Amino acid sequence: MSDTIKGACHCGSVTFEVSRPKFAVRCNCSICRRYAATWAHCPPNEGQILSGQDHVTSYSWGDHDIAFHSCKTCGCVTHWGPGENTDLDRFAVNLNMADPADLEGLRIRHFDGADSWEFFD
Ligand SMILES: [Zn+2]
Repeated sequence: MSDTIKGACHCGSVTFEVSRPKFAVRCNCSICRRYAATWAHCPPNEGQILSGQDHVTSYSWGDHDIAFHSCKTCGCVTHWGPGENTDLDRFAVNLNMADPADLEGLRIRHFDGADSWEFFD
């Protein structure tokens, strides 16, 4: 099994690579449940956007701490990163962009972003 997982949006414009996380995160907050994303957070994982960083539509709201990015062409939500009002160095990539075979055996944890901000499992 590879130490890294690569992902690409449906049309292939936006690509990323992330070190294989100990677990991935599904969150029930107002935005994640709509996107149905499966996140790998960096850090603690090593990751980078390989292409398409400027081929995205970005969405943020409220205090604009973070922005969610989706491919301009195919609409897939590929990652989130710091919003315009922060120099946060955290970001996360959506592992649903990866080949399912590369995600086999990966633990999925469920985060209660809607309420307690703790993991359910
Ligand atoms: Zn695309």
